[in-house]
Amino acid sequence: MTDQFGREINYMRLSVTDRCNLRCRYCMPEGVEFLDHSQILRYEEILEIVRAAVELGIVHFKVTGGEPLVRRDCVDFIRRLKQLPGIRTVSLTTNGVLLAPLARELAEAGVDWVNISLDAPGRADYAAVTGFDALNRVLTGMDACEEAGLPFKLNCVLLPDSRDRLIPLARFARERDIDVRFIEMMPIGLGADSPGLAWEEALAVLRREWPDLHSVEERRGNGPARYYVSGALRGCIGAIDAVSHKFCAQCNRVRLTSTGQLKPCLCYSQGADLREVLRTCPEKLTETMRDAIFHKPRAHCFDRSGDITEQKCMSQIGG
Ligand code: SAM
Ligand code: SF4
Repeated sequence: MTDQFGREINYMRLSVTDRCNLRCRYCMPEGVEFLDHSQILRYEEILEIVRAAVELGIVHFKVTGGEPLVRRDCVDFIRRLKQLPGIRTVSLTTNGVLLAPLARELAEAGVDWVNISLDAPGRADYAAVTGFDALNRVLTGMDACEEAGLPFKLNCVLLPDSRDRLIPLARFARERDIDVRFIEMMPIGLGADSPGLAWEEALAVLRREWPDLHSVEERRGNGPARYYVSGALRGCIGAIDAVSHKFCAQCNRVRLTSTGQLKPCLCYSQGADLREVLRTCPEKLTETMRDAIFHKPRAHCFDRSGDITEQKCMSQIGG
């Protein structure tokens, strides 16, 4: 469907949990309180919402969290999701820690690709960012994806101390045919107090190593990433620079939190409580969703921190 500004909305991020097995320092506060299970949508409820979303023309779904793979039976849920009529793509965003033993099952469940978050490619650095000495498990997860024929991309949030890590991270795209995407820190949750690194600065560092790195028009996936290529790299380098380059006019997405809030824009707390609708008057589900999506705000206001109304941290929203 199109929203009030004529944008076609065809993509929904589905957060299946607020829990996580890492504590990335810009995402999940120490001592964060987890929601009670009764507040989290059951898988059957999420599938009901997805059926309604398909009716409204949403055909691309990404499963996220918290860490989606910590929720019991997540792969089975993904299999059921992918089998629903009308769905075109199902992808997964994960920190990769639990990926190795599940990669083959995920491929068999029909996952189209996986985004693996990897902010630091060295063991000590990784532990400093995420709070856990788990880099090796992520690397094993990447190998397992390759063996299972499950395509994946790497996502790296640009932190102030990312400069020294950019080349080692981008080398994954030199050695393997995978895309490495750099994401500007968004001022949501702890991200508001975590200064980031602008994509242009990161690009300057990367160009010192690969001077021919240049942008291409080609779109890959369902998101806003812009891509760069170099003759020396097998994969592409991606930039998700929502802060320095507003791409709200092309935004095609909405988000469902694990508690069932349909969020039309990351920046604002506004949204529809679909859990309440599902549990009290399910016949109103599609109309409630249509209304919330239609009223998607024109643009984020990351540049005016006083206007940001979203108070949740990113692990509660799903990124
Ligand atoms: N746990 C999974 C993971 O890490 O991929 C899925 C959820 S996580 C919230 C999704 C993505 O959001 C991750 O790539 C994470 O790095 C990113 N993220 C978290 N906080 C962010 C922020 N303030 N700005 C930009 N990206 C952020
Ligand atoms: Fe967990 Fe992902 Fe947030 Fe890191 S970014 S704390 S892995 S939800």
